[in-house]
Amino acid sequence: MAKEENKLEKIVSLVKRRGFIFQGSEIYGGLAGIYDYGPLGTELRHNIKQYFWDKFIAEREDVYGMSAAILMPKRVWEASGHTELFTDPLVECKICHERVRADQPEAIAGHENTHKKEKGKMAWSESKVFNLLVETKLGASEKSATEAYLRGEITQGVHVNFKNILDSMHPKLPFGIGQIGKAFRNEITPRDFLFRQREFEQMELQYYIKPDEKTGKEQFEYWKNFALDWYYGLGFKKENLRLRQHAENERAHYAKDAWDIEYYTPFAGWKEACGIHHRGDWDLKRHSEYSGEDLSYYDDETKERFIPWDIECSGGVDRAVLFVLSEAFTEDEMNGEARIYLRLLPKIAPVKVAVFPLLKNKPDLVFKAKEVYGVLKKKIPQMMFDDNGNIGKRYRRQDEIGTPWCVTIDFQTLEDSTITVRDRDSGKQERKNIDGLDKYFEEMLR
Ligand code: ATP
Repeated sequence: MAKEENKLEKIVSLVKRRGFIFQGSEIYGGLAGIYDYGPLGTELRHNIKQYFWDKFIAEREDVYGMSAAILMPKRVWEASGHTELFTDPLVECKICHERVRADQPEAIAGHENTHKKEKGKMAWSESKVFNLLVETKLGASEKSATEAYLRGEITQGVHVNFKNILDSMHPKLPFGIGQIGKAFRNEITPRDFLFRQREFEQMELQYYIKPDEKTGKEQFEYWKNFALDWYYGLGFKKENLRLRQHAENERAHYAKDAWDIEYYTPFAGWKEACGIHHRGDWDLKRHSEYSGEDLSYYDDETKERFIPWDIECSGGVDRAVLFVLSEAFTEDEMNGEARIYLRLLPKIAPVKVAVFPLLKNKPDLVFKAKEVYGVLKKKIPQMMFDDNGNIGKRYRRQDEIGTPWCVTIDFQTLEDSTITVRDRDSGKQERKNIDGLDKYFEEMLR
């Protein structure tokens, strides 16, 4: 598979131009590794998160959803091992004092490239360990301020609530707790657009099981395949996703076994989308020790008390957005003209249906188009109305944002209440009755 070096630049430019994603606080020069989502990006991200919530949480009888706070006391991160072990190696450039990840050859090479003119002078400091947690202080007085961290992963918010969930919901093992939310990492070298950010969102499942090797192996296998299927459900080609096991020296401090679901990115080859981690009893055991609370589980059937094991699926929301955009971004030719379009699955597309009057200056057409738009919008909220410019340009604009269907109201509509539905990928148009159009799209979206 060939890397397409400038595809990322084209995507960044498209998503900015069309209101998906902007550099964070851009008018003030921006912050490295921080991005803001505009109207269409927010809808796209919402659809991906909704799909996660449906499949991993809402449609299951054995999984609860929750939403923990972003700020957590220092003690949580001492217990989880992050204050000590959540580190990356860094080296400092001796010319400009910029710091770069020592274990990323592409970051080192990229930086060395910026010093081409100072040939021969390039030198790096010894490698140092750098902690990625983002620290803050809470409270007005300097003396009594509480040291806190913006969570470095959303996982710990679930583990610290394990007892609350047991006491309030009385679940039986195995059961899961799913969550979606922001995480913060002071990444040394944020890069590749949404791929490595300092503020990002995660979608996770912590699945608690009985602590035995056989159950552990079976559940791990199950969730690996479940998560992979979920990613395929975002529309990736078979050959663009793979599962890869971590080597022992690659595993995080808590992991008994770890696999990544990787996507073949057009800009940097295979990259992690989601981690499947066998965390064993690491988190609950450590939080029991550090908090003094008993986080064990009592099994009614066997009359045993034990600390469950945890199988985790941990995916990045923004990485999913970036990978979905990379997969969907397509350049082709239609009617002899070059076009760019996003081949998004309808369930993910930020706008499902766009409605146009053929001509803007014909009140009858505009009136009818608004009526059709109004009826459809009640059933399908992600809609757009557009009467700007000629119809060909409007189709192109919708293609660029990945709208699967465009409905056009023309003169024939006024006579026989039919409209045309244009399909994004083929450009083909079909005449349909207005009556039943809402049902037709609802069916197509299913
Ligand atoms: P990497 O090796 O790429 O730094 P990781 O192994 O540290 O990732 P995890 O701690 O397992 O990542 O986090 C789970 C998921 O969160 C990752 O699979 C990824 O999708 C997402 N994620 C992690 N760090 C970032 C980041 N800096 N920016 C965007 N998404 C991230």
